[in-house]
Amino acid sequence: MKKYDVIIIGGGVVGLSTAYYLGKSGQSVLVLDKGNGTDGCSFGNAGFISPSHFVPLSAPGIVAKGLRWMMSRTSPFYIKPRLNKELLKWGWEFVKHATPTHVDYAKDALAELSLLSRTLHNQLANEANMSIQNKGMLMLCRDEATLAHEIEVAEMAKQWDMGAKAYTPEELKKVEPGMKLNVLGGVMFPLDSYTDPAAFMQQLPKLFNALPITLAFSKEVTDFTLSKGTITGVTAGQAHYQADNFVLATGSFAPRLMKKLNLNLPLEAGKGYSVDWTTPTSVPTTSYILAEARVAVTPMPGRVRLAGTMELVGLNESINKTRANGFLQSIEAYLPEYTFDKLKNLPVWAGLRPCSPDGLPFIGRNKQFKNLILATGHAMMGFTLGPATGLLVKEIILEEKNSVAINKFEPNRY
Ligand SMILES: Cc1cc2nc3c(=O)[nH]c(=O)nc-3n(C[C@H](O)[C@H](O)[C@H](O)COP(=O)(O)OP(=O)(O)OC[C@H]3O[C@@H](n4cnc5c(N)ncnc54)[C@H](O)[C@@H]3O)c2cc1C
Repeated sequence: MKKYDVIIIGGGVVGLSTAYYLGKSGQSVLVLDKGNGTDGCSFGNAGFISPSHFVPLSAPGIVAKGLRWMMSRTSPFYIKPRLNKELLKWGWEFVKHATPTHVDYAKDALAELSLLSRTLHNQLANEANMSIQNKGMLMLCRDEATLAHEIEVAEMAKQWDMGAKAYTPEELKKVEPGMKLNVLGGVMFPLDSYTDPAAFMQQLPKLFNALPITLAFSKEVTDFTLSKGTITGVTAGQAHYQADNFVLATGSFAPRLMKKLNLNLPLEAGKGYSVDWTTPTSVPTTSYILAEARVAVTPMPGRVRLAGTMELVGLNESINKTRANGFLQSIEAYLPEYTFDKLKNLPVWAGLRPCSPDGLPFIGRNKQFKNLILATGHAMMGFTLGPATGLLVKEIILEEKNSVAINKFEPNRY
């Protein structure tokens, strides 16, 4: 039986990026994915590459806001109450980390990782002939408190020379003359970029043809083979595969597979929705976030993608039409031409964000099985952070110096 240097379980943005950097270093790589390579969280997301998102999901104020949102059937955030030990532990850790001290702890690591990833996204776009828009992101706010908060974030962003700038409604009219905006103001984060994530997922594997990488679909890994405390292989269907190292890049599905090794990982799936509007009344010149509604607006070739909501309902990819309508309804308050009436019948896509409780990804070797490398937990930043994570995993496996400090992404921290 052929033995690979590395088997990567999961062919989302993290798995494919990891394959690319390992393959480029001459490692023989097998990527196994349970899907067919056309869908999953890495395809239907908003396509933001966002260094501006250095404040982790577990941020001050989110708990009180989350509790208020829980009362509404159409709010952008929901946790399905379940008597589930894992969810309770995750929730407890999330609440514990929603503090200014934790933001201070996490922000440098997240900013450095996402700035590195932005550079890598641009290199990959160049190499694989993919389009990438380095046009920034406008955070649009309708209330004073949110605008004040975003201006504070812009101040913090100066630390990494992100060049963020606040705009009045009059200035916004000049910046976005083709769009009707009903907002109190906005903040432009010029270092943010965006692209079509599905195009990235389809183009990147084309680079694999020249590399020792095999990509295999419809291969759900269901178990591991062990020898003397080391993983030697995996089982997918009737087939067994062997390798020296194994990368777990299964996104939200990581805890389920780790149970096979008697390992626990506090990770919850955060379901989100997106719709593509192919006949938009008007098209933004750059990407937006509608801040209070937590909706992303991305101009993509031939369409505008609208994405939002965060539902913690387990590994459940079904579409809750009421909640999807909730996010679509919230848009017209900001963009009066984007009426619910025009959006309500568009097909809705759903994806599961792999959310760690402290808003930091898990990247590194498992302490019990040293040849198992975790690469998940990127929550709403996974598309941004895929390439940098892939590069770091390559460096970990080849025992090279890490491009950025990885101690805060330690996968054994719980
Ligand atoms: C609505 C929405 C909008 C978003 N917008 C953005 C954005 O603008 N910018 C951003 O940075 N991030 C965004 N995200 C988050 C981002 O999409 C995710 O963080 C990212 O896709 C996670 O990538 P991944 O490779 O870790 O996981 P996934 O993309 O989920 O890939 C994991 C893969 O593992 C496979 N798999 C699982 N279990 C097994 C198994 N047992 N055997 C074999 N294969 C298996 C799955 O089939 C899947 O292909 C958004 C997410 C959503 C839902």
